[in-house]
Amino acid sequence: MRESIVVGRILGIPIKLHITLLIAIPLFVYVFALNPPPFGFGGVVPEGEAYLMGFFATMLLFISILLHELAHSYVALKRGTRIGSITLLLFGGVASMEEVPREPGAELKMAIAGPATSFAIGVTSILIYFILSDFTTSPAVTIFVVIGVLNIVLGAFNLIPAFPMDGGRVLRAWMAERMPYIQATERAAYIGKIIAGMMAIAGLLIPSPWLLLIAVFIYIGASEETKATVADVALKGVRVADIMTASVQKVGASLSVNEIIDMMFYSKHVGFPVVGESDELTGIVTFSDVRKVPPEERDARMVADIMTRDALTISPGAMATEAMRVMARNNIGRLIVMEDGKIVGIVSRKDLVRAIELLREQ
Ligand SMILES: [Zn+2]
Repeated sequence: MRESIVVGRILGIPIKLHITLLIAIPLFVYVFALNPPPFGFGGVVPEGEAYLMGFFATMLLFISILLHELAHSYVALKRGTRIGSITLLLFGGVASMEEVPREPGAELKMAIAGPATSFAIGVTSILIYFILSDFTTSPAVTIFVVIGVLNIVLGAFNLIPAFPMDGGRVLRAWMAERMPYIQATERAAYIGKIIAGMMAIAGLLIPSPWLLLIAVFIYIGASEETKATVADVALKGVRVADIMTASVQKVGASLSVNEIIDMMFYSKHVGFPVVGESDELTGIVTFSDVRKVPPEERDARMVADIMTRDALTISPGAMATEAMRVMARNNIGRLIVMEDGKIVGIVSRKDLVRAIELLREQ
């Protein structure tokens, strides 16, 4: 089952709704309908009207979150970063970027744009409330207070310096002006994890499942982003040709699975390109394909039965970070390196890890 659906495009970015919204929307409508002002419409009669306004407030809240993410994305787009998508989910929005800007100045602007937008929406909504409340006593006006207050809370919450939240990104950018980028990231992540730990404890004591969820989100995010940053910085300027294995052994589709296992044992490689009669690439066979075949069938089954046919390829001139992204996106361990229709090498996740470790020491 797909986890999210694309509902449209803004600035060329696909906007996705995550499946968790099916829980989030009714939940928010319910909470808004019952909560007393300024966080809801409790006490509004008839009750149906409270739910209707709760629904409008929920829609406006998610539009506000979308605008917050669009603000980050707009700044990133302007400096040439590609945005894969924006997803709205249970506890907010996520803009997935192909690469995070590695210059502190650019990251600072990008990080601040989201909370700044939330504050702007918040203050404007509250001003509208004060203007309208001079003319009418309709409870519908309360919607501007609800949206105003929630946007200010949203902006303030995102500024908590827990990397990779916006405030944490601001902190990293600030520190990166004063120390090497990786060190700044590691420190920001460390602070982020401490704050996540405190949030988790508070979440258990209150108890608040939201706070727990956000704590887990920050903790995982801090670890993942640190890894990605270390890799990006270490591999800067490195091309696939620099780290690939050039002496690549090709195999024919008619070999038996047992023959392939022997080759893996003696060559110490666990993935081979499969070629046809005129040396053209027809697929790739890896250890994980081999493993799926029960031992008693390994003499009878051939490479052709178990190989992956649409092997992904990359050019030797591509950046190593691009190879890393392609592997991560497709959840695979190696890419075949091709130039002018010829196989010139193979680049694996292991090659990347080794390169990152060595380059970090320089
Ligand atoms: Zn943000």
